[in-house]
Amino acid sequence: MKAIQSIRGMHDTLPETVHVWQHLEGRLRALLDAYGYQEIRLPAVEFTELFARSIGDVTDIVEKEMYTFEDRNGDRLSLRPEGTAGCVRAGIEHGLLHNQVQRLWYQGPMFRHERPQKGRYRQFHQVGMEVFGLQGPDVDAEMLAFTARLWKALGLRNLRLELNTLGTPASRLRYRERLIGYFEARRDGLDPEALRRLHENPLRLLDSKHPDTAAIAREAPTLLDDLDADSRAHFEGLRAHLDALGIAYTHNPRLVRGLDYYTHTVFEWITDELGAQGTVCAGGRYDGLVEQLGGRATPAIGLAMGLERLVSLLTGQSAAPAPEGPDIYLVVPGDDARIQALVLAERLRDTLPRLRLVLNCGGGSIKAQMKKADRTGARYAVILGPDEIAAGTAVVKALRDPGAGQLTVSQDDLAALMQARLDR
Ligand code: ATP
Ligand code: MG
Repeated sequence: MKAIQSIRGMHDTLPETVHVWQHLEGRLRALLDAYGYQEIRLPAVEFTELFARSIGDVTDIVEKEMYTFEDRNGDRLSLRPEGTAGCVRAGIEHGLLHNQVQRLWYQGPMFRHERPQKGRYRQFHQVGMEVFGLQGPDVDAEMLAFTARLWKALGLRNLRLELNTLGTPASRLRYRERLIGYFEARRDGLDPEALRRLHENPLRLLDSKHPDTAAIAREAPTLLDDLDADSRAHFEGLRAHLDALGIAYTHNPRLVRGLDYYTHTVFEWITDELGAQGTVCAGGRYDGLVEQLGGRATPAIGLAMGLERLVSLLTGQSAAPAPEGPDIYLVVPGDDARIQALVLAERLRDTLPRLRLVLNCGGGSIKAQMKKADRTGARYAVILGPDEIAAGTAVVKALRDPGAGQLTVSQDDLAALMQARLDR
């Protein structure tokens, strides 16, 4: 029978690479905790309308990329393409936002029906951070300081920060009109999709991937001239904070991001080491979204990191530590010793709760078992042969230190010896 395969663009993470993920997630978790962020866990499926109303009807994500279906009740649902919409929905629903400051984070799979390629998958994983109730720009800068510290903690190099401001909805509106005028005057050079979006959402043309439209977009006016005093002050304030922190960035006035909800600050962390999919982290301020989704007006800022891209970068830069083998592989030649071996293993685990021990189950010759012990990368083999069983002893053999030899100890002293050797 033909074996069933995984869905295109949706990948398994195998044990041989999962340690890189765990390393990344571990560092992230520790740093999120250190900055006072609390984890929130959100459903992977929401009403389609939530995404249409937040991300925007006329965006790539909502128009082309969502996994949308009707469930058995006839509700229109979508697998989440990102986490901000669901987080805001949950915040409103549970009364977490009004007159409160929240620093929240979440992680999990996101789903977008994109063309699969390196760094672009149909199920991918993000860690997202959202802060509610703070106007900034201090918290905007703190969030960027967090990311800069994260790259350092992970040992990642060659990431650059691009920054822009999208101003207020009013300045966006003025800019919109100017953009429509600019593109209208060049409409013959635009692709059909750009023409269709021109009057609905002209900002989308700025990050068009169509070469003709992209060429015209490169010369388009920027929003800078339409910025009002508040927007300018916010942006200048953010720059001053970043300068004081020594966080380098470039101001890219063409950075608009592919979602509709952003205001003021937008940013991306980019590397040139992952080919075309070089943005590993992106985000911005979305002061209007909570109100737009039915809550009371609440300033907010957030970001999302693409974990697959960070894992690729960690691997490419050899920045992730090698996986560690167990402390002990318990070798049990002879069928009679199996029960004693299991009892001994559990006794060791009682005394040393952090001990990493693999018990040889299923028998086998001593030679075969020693080979297995070596393959696991264990630091020590503890051998429980018939002689040792009879004498109440065990043989301890160092596997990673060729000069160390082996010694025989009483089973009663084994835990203390291993604790001294392993410092666990
Ligand atoms: P891109 O321009 O690469 O399409 P985006 O603007 O659509 O990115 P966001 O919605 O801002 O991406 O998502 C934040 C991050 O999530 C991205 O910077 C990227 O690291 C990651 N990401 C987005 N889409 C995918 C995908 N299809 N596969 C893997 N990672 C992704
Ligand atoms: Mg995209």
